[in-house]
Amino acid sequence: MSRALKTFSSALWAFVATSTTAVLCVAAALWGHWPGVVPLVLAGAVAAGGALMVAIGIWRAGRAVQQTAAALTRSAQRIGQGDYARPVEMHEHDGMGELEQAMERMRARLRQSTINKDYLRSVLNSMADAVFLTSPDGVIKTANTAACKMLGFGEEELLGRGIASLLEERARAGFDLLQAAQDTRETVVRTRDGQTIPVSLAGSRIESDDPQFQGNIFVVRNITDRKRAERRIRYLARYDTLTKVANRMQFQHMLQQTLARGLRSGQAVALLYLDMDRFKEVNDTFGHDTGDRVLEVLAERLTRALPPNASLGRLAGDEFALCLHGLPADTDQRVPIGQLARAVLNEVARAFQLNQQEVFLTASMGIAFCPRDAENVIDLIRNADAAMYHAKQNGGNTFTFYSPEMNAAAVERLILKSKLRRALERDELVIRYQPKVDLTSGRVVGAEALLRWRLPGHGDIPPARFIPLAEETNLILDIGEWVLNRVCMDYRQLKGAGGEPGRISLNLSLRQLRQASFILRCRSVFRRHGVSPTALELEITETTLMADSKNTLRLLDELYAMGLHLSIDDFGTGYSSLSALQQFPIDTLKIDQSFIRDVTENTGNATLVRTIIEMGRNLGMVVVAEGVEAQDQLDFLSRNGCAQAQGRLFGEPCAVEELLVLLQRQGSSGCAFGHLLRAAQAAGRTA
Ligand code: C2E
Ligand code: MG
Ligand code: MG
Repeated sequence: MSRALKTFSSALWAFVATSTTAVLCVAAALWGHWPGVVPLVLAGAVAAGGALMVAIGIWRAGRAVQQTAAALTRSAQRIGQGDYARPVEMHEHDGMGELEQAMERMRARLRQSTINKDYLRSVLNSMADAVFLTSPDGVIKTANTAACKMLGFGEEELLGRGIASLLEERARAGFDLLQAAQDTRETVVRTRDGQTIPVSLAGSRIESDDPQFQGNIFVVRNITDRKRAERRIRYLARYDTLTKVANRMQFQHMLQQTLARGLRSGQAVALLYLDMDRFKEVNDTFGHDTGDRVLEVLAERLTRALPPNASLGRLAGDEFALCLHGLPADTDQRVPIGQLARAVLNEVARAFQLNQQEVFLTASMGIAFCPRDAENVIDLIRNADAAMYHAKQNGGNTFTFYSPEMNAAAVERLILKSKLRRALERDELVIRYQPKVDLTSGRVVGAEALLRWRLPGHGDIPPARFIPLAEETNLILDIGEWVLNRVCMDYRQLKGAGGEPGRISLNLSLRQLRQASFILRCRSVFRRHGVSPTALELEITETTLMADSKNTLRLLDELYAMGLHLSIDDFGTGYSSLSALQQFPIDTLKIDQSFIRDVTENTGNATLVRTIIEMGRNLGMVVVAEGVEAQDQLDFLSRNGCAQAQGRLFGEPCAVEELLVLLQRQGSSGCAFGHLLRAAQAAGRTA
């Protein structure tokens, strides 16, 4: 029973009880005076009471229904406003109760679907990628927070726009909605403030039976970082990071296109191949960082020197190439290209500032033309390289045009390399000895062992040609050990035959010195031949000394402790100062022959040689002059207090048997070259 009905019946019963009591009292009172009126009063009272009771009941029941309806209205309004959290008020009024329950069920269902919708929204908004939900024709219906953030628009501004309208103009032109809705592509979007962002756009279709849910979902990811990384990788693959010029791959690619264009249009292309002279020494002396800095500066200078129709590439370490296109093919271009080559070499020859020192470097250049010398990239580069090699052979700091014979020289170099491998097995190496003469007594006080390669059919190959090949192939280690063995055997032979060879010096290459077992190997060779290390001297160039000077110092200390003498070879050709060399346990300083060659004509060299002799003497070193060819050179050296000399003036490097004869003759006559010195002393007296 409903509450309204209960209220109504209890009121009715209360009213009936009180009014019956009142009527009975009135009736009892009247019964004594007017007994005939009593029944009438009773009947009237009963009728009036009944009517009153009905009226009150109706009023009260109406009021309860009204209250329930008002509560239902309030609930309906709340639900209409999206407030599904509070349950519908229940009054359990007859008839209304079912309505209330129905409304409560509806509220619960609405609440559940709202929770789902909010959840979906918060999922979308918490995604880092921009997400757009569109209608099947691409009209945006939802855009998440990341989408708004990426594009700089509010969500309301995005809703209703076509997805294609977000793309940058060019990307929009080729945009196909149907296709985009089922694949992933890279494209570019434009933000509200006009910026463009590279993005990946992944589309997929939303399948649903209900047309209102059909459409597309697009996930848009900002790929700026990836694009940047890709650009960097592409850059690194094509450009040299140090010098910022095209690397070998890119240069060859570009050259290929240039050649194809040139051949099509009947124009010539020139390739200038540049290689720094003795660049290794810069690295060895100043370290690789400084070497790198030189290459950077060099690339800047080359770039500045380029004419507009030229491009530059770094092909390897210190090798650069310049390509000039659009040249007339019917006229000889050697004069203008030669002028350009000279201008480039002059740029290279400007002073480099290295560790607060001015250093002057040079380069060699080879030049080849397409189509005259080659019609494809590989041949053109190879020919320009061969010409460059010739420029180097001619002393460097020069350029050479390619000619077909040059390639033969490059091929020969390769052949030589392979033949050198067999030189040791075939016993093709020999040692020649060049005597070292004391400039006060004229006596032979030692000799330098110089290596020769007697290649059948080629005659004697000088070490300058094959030692670099041996170093490239590491064969120098085997060759070096062979030399040490040979010299020890020859020394025993000389001693055994009564000769007094003095100290025999041999040349050491950097690779030998770097060999981990070098000292052990030396010891075992000396032991095997029974030769004291004090009988020998190792010649090390100053560039070798300065390369990894810390390690070298340790090694040299050990060699010195064994009793070996050490000398600096080719002094003056490197970049080291005497004070830097002082740290090494060096006894002898050999002035490079290039200074001796014109010491009597070139006052600059004369001053330099005098200074070296004086400084060497002050440091307690024996100073030896190399390459003495003429009497006036000897006069100069002996006048300036040089201790020893070697060179053609005293004879060409000779076989051990000839050295023995010289030593034996000296044994009987006292000194082998006294006559030359007497002439020198006489010249000194008259000077
Ligand atoms: P180096 O040690 O400076 O040797 C002196 C070079 O000057 C030798 O050339 C010698 O023949 C040459 N020479 C001697 N007197 C005169 C002269 O009066 N005028 C001229 N113009 N040259 C003269 P070579 O024998 O061709 O050796 C060249 C270089 O090869 C040597 O220079 C040395 O650095 C290297 N070398 C020679 N033998 C060996 C070796 O067994 N091992 C290593 N690692 N290097 C060697
Ligand atoms: Mg030497
Ligand atoms: Mg030398």
